[in-house]
Amino acid sequence: MNLQAPRGTTDLLPEQALAFNTLEQTALSVFGRYGYALIDVPTFEQLDVFVRGIGQSTDVIGKEMFFVYSMHAAEKLAAGEKLKSDERLALRPEATAGVARAVVEHNLVPPGGAPVKFWYAGSMFRHERPQKGRLREFHQIGAECIGAAEPTADAEVIIMLMRFFEAAGIPRQAMRLLVNSMGDAECRPAYREKVREFIRDQSELLCEDCVRRAETNPLRAFDCKNEICQKVLADAPRLSDELCDDCREHYQQVKGYLTAAGLSFEEAPRLVRGLDYYTRTVFEVQVVNGLGSQNAIGGGGRYDGLIEEFGGKPTPGLGFAVGMERIQLALEANGCARTAQLSPQVFIIVVGAEQVPEAFAMALMLRDANISCELDHQARSMKSQFKLADKTGALLCVILGPDELARGEVKLRVMGTGDEQTVASDTLTETIRKILL
Ligand code: AMP
Repeated sequence: MNLQAPRGTTDLLPEQALAFNTLEQTALSVFGRYGYALIDVPTFEQLDVFVRGIGQSTDVIGKEMFFVYSMHAAEKLAAGEKLKSDERLALRPEATAGVARAVVEHNLVPPGGAPVKFWYAGSMFRHERPQKGRLREFHQIGAECIGAAEPTADAEVIIMLMRFFEAAGIPRQAMRLLVNSMGDAECRPAYREKVREFIRDQSELLCEDCVRRAETNPLRAFDCKNEICQKVLADAPRLSDELCDDCREHYQQVKGYLTAAGLSFEEAPRLVRGLDYYTRTVFEVQVVNGLGSQNAIGGGGRYDGLIEEFGGKPTPGLGFAVGMERIQLALEANGCARTAQLSPQVFIIVVGAEQVPEAFAMALMLRDANISCELDHQARSMKSQFKLADKTGALLCVILGPDELARGEVKLRVMGTGDEQTVASDTLTETIRKILL
């Protein structure tokens, strides 16, 4: 049997797993400075959480969900019975809906004071056609700021996102920051109608999907990857021309704060983003080179209606998510991926198998003293052990021979220079510490 990881998933081998962990550490540090606390919501939720939060007519819900059935639920389905809503489960395609659900469930909705701010990291699942930078299980880091309606909150979130990318190592000039306003319940419905009319008028030129979208969710047509559609839709009405006074003022102020912070951005009137919950500010960060059509490394926006959707009091909010795989690709494409090797600081080498018990005890002692340490459990020839030490990237080797051990000593070799010294066993930890410093 030839078992493989499912299509569209990847094994995070140690180097990538470490790189992802480093990204999470960067998030902890950058987001912490902005007052964000880590939250961890379930990987699967009731399907209704996503349907309500993300919107029935989106691709994420309409086409890309992974459902989760317990054995009991699967048997009920097979018998033609209906499932209860808490038996209809799905893997999360994104985490905002889960966080919003948690905020309402635990009554964390801020009562008019400071907003609550959370960040998260984890796997998301979408049944998309896999390609470079597009997976079925992928990893996101995201942040949500719930309880702030002011344009400073939008600007702060966008600035934090850009600071995060820079701290992760992506050069500023390698990124484009796109912003737009999607309006609100006041101005968007009329605009949506205009786009619907436009699509109907141009239906002969547009792809089937776009024509279908005119009926379900016309703004989604702007996300169509078909080049002809994109050309045709370039002449569609612009929401920026249709914003109500409040939305226009909000958008102006957000842009003003970004400019004042020295952040360059481009206005992207066609940026609508794929999820239904966005209102007013939306933004996306793309990398200029190397990622082809999957060049968005992160994006987000305001979702002032979302908390209410989950039964909370009307509460404004906004957030973003970034794709960890794509950040990694962006770092590689720009030659700034930091390769981290898990090298031990010390490798213990035995002259013969008789010294294995001492080597074993010494390794434990060094590790307990917070010094990372490795040894060859098979006690092969010294030549093989040195080779192995070299391969692991160890900085120092401790060599245990019968004569030295009899005198209470060991040899210590600095791998880079080959310098060797004899050290009393009971001062070894101290000596190693000094050298490592
Ligand atoms: P979204 O949740 O669709 O707003 O996506 C936020 C970010 O997650 C995107 O900018 C991508 O970097 C990343 N992303 C979304 N979908 C995928 C996917 N299928 N595979 C890898 N990364 C993804």
